[in-house]
Amino acid sequence: MNNTQSIPRFVLVGIPNAGKSSLLNRLTGNRAVIIHDKAHTTRDITLHPVEWAERAAYVQDTPGFTSSPDSEIETEAQVQLKAALHEATAVVFVVDITSPGVTDAERLLARLVRQSGKPVILALNQADKKHGDTAHFRALGFESSLEVSAHHAAGIDDLKTHLLELAPVSDESPQHTPNQWRVAFLGRPNVGKSSLLNAFTHANSAIVSAEAGTTRDPVSATITHNDTQLLLTDTAGMRRPGKIGRDIEYFSLTRTKQVIAQADICVLVLDATDPATAMDQRIAGMIREAGKGLVIAVNKSDAVTEEDKRRGRLDKRLTRDLEFVWWAPYVLVSATTGLNLDELLDQICEVGNRLTQKLLTRELNKILTQATVSRPPASSGLLRPKLNYITQTSSNPIEFSLFGTHPDAIHFSYRRYLENQLREHIDLRGVPIKLIFKSKYKPSGDE
Ligand code: GDP
Repeated sequence: MNNTQSIPRFVLVGIPNAGKSSLLNRLTGNRAVIIHDKAHTTRDITLHPVEWAERAAYVQDTPGFTSSPDSEIETEAQVQLKAALHEATAVVFVVDITSPGVTDAERLLARLVRQSGKPVILALNQADKKHGDTAHFRALGFESSLEVSAHHAAGIDDLKTHLLELAPVSDESPQHTPNQWRVAFLGRPNVGKSSLLNAFTHANSAIVSAEAGTTRDPVSATITHNDTQLLLTDTAGMRRPGKIGRDIEYFSLTRTKQVIAQADICVLVLDATDPATAMDQRIAGMIREAGKGLVIAVNKSDAVTEEDKRRGRLDKRLTRDLEFVWWAPYVLVSATTGLNLDELLDQICEVGNRLTQKLLTRELNKILTQATVSRPPASSGLLRPKLNYITQTSSNPIEFSLFGTHPDAIHFSYRRYLENQLREHIDLRGVPIKLIFKSKYKPSGDE
C-alpha cells in the first residue's frame, strides 16, 4: 500500500550504537514524537513528522536490531520491524563507518530490509571520524550509500534530498485503482477511530488508548472485503480551537485536510453517546467540500441507554445536526462488540462504486427536463434563467455541468432543488455532488 500512501515514511534501521538516534535527531530536528504505542507492541512505534523542502514526511525510528532469534522478544521485534518496513516508503540503513566489519545482526537486518523490496540508502555514519576502507559494507547488498555525520550535521541535507527523491510526489487526488478504495477514518479524539481500525485489522497497526488525542496522525492498514481492497487510515483527531496550542491544532487540521484529500471515502466516526457535535459538523463539511464519499459510523452504539433508544434521541440528533449531509448513509456500529462492522464495510464499498459511476447524459437530461418543467427556475429581476442541458463532467468527485442562459441568476434554493431531483432519480447515497452552471450550451456529443 505504500505507493498509495501519500505522506512518505522513511524508516531508520540499524544495530544498537550505529548512531541511529543521533541521525534521527538530525533528521527530525528533535521534534516531538507523535505516536506512541505501548498498548499493543512490546516496542514503541514512533513517528516523527517532518517538513523537508516544503514536503510533509514521517521519519520512523525502529529499535536497535539485535540477532537472537530464539528469544521471544526478538521475534516480536522482527515482526514489528517487518511491519515498519511494509509501511516504509524508503529505508535508511545506518551503520557505523568506523566499524571494521559487518556484524551478524546487520547481515540479518539487511536481509529483512532487502526482502521488503523497499528502496534503501546505506547511511555511513560517523564519517567525520577517521576511517579506512568501506568496501565491507557492500556485503549488505545495497546500491546507494551516503557518508553522513550525525554529530557534525554533515551530509544530512543530501540524505534528505535523496530520500525525497525516492518518494514520488503525490497528486492531491491520485487516480483510483479498480477494486481498491482509500478510506480515511475521521472524527474527534476518543470516538473510537483506532478501535474500529483495530477491529478491522485484528492487528497491531492501530492504536487504542483511553487518553484523548493519543492518535494524532494517520496510521494505516490494508484489509480485503469482498474482493475489494480497502486502505484504511486512522486520522488525527481534530480538537476544538482554543483547547490546545495553536501549533498542534494547525498541525492536526492540515493533516486532516491532507488525509481527506488523499482518500476516496471518508468514514466520519461519531460517538453514539454524544453524536453530531460542532466539530463533527465541521469535519462532515470538510468531507463534503472535498467531494469525497461519506459514510457515518455511529460508534459506541453499545453504550446508548435503553431510555435514549426509546426516545430516538440519537436519530433526532443525527437528522437535525447533520442535515446538510442527509444523503450520507449511517451505520450504528460498536468497535467493542463488533456490531455491524461488516455492514459498515459494505456501505464503504457501495459508496465507492457510486462515487465512480458514469451516468448517461440522456438519462441526466431526462431528469433535468422533468425537473425544470414541473418547476422552472424563478426569474431574478429582469433575468429569466433557463437550463437546457446537463452532463456529468467528473466522477470521484462527482460533478455535473449544467448549461443554459443566465445561470448566475439561479437561486441557491433552486440549485438545492436540482440536487434533490438528481438524488431522487439516481442512487447517490454517500456521494457529495457538485453542480457547475455554465452559460453556454455545448453538447459534448460523447454518447
Ligand atoms: P480515537 O481517539 O477516535 O482513535 O478513539 P480510541 O479508539 O482510542 O477509543 C477511545 C476510547 O473509547 C477507548 O477507551 C475505547 O476503548 C473506547 N471505545 C472505542 N470503541 C468503543 C465502542 O464501540 N464501545 C464502547 N463502549 N467504547 C468504545
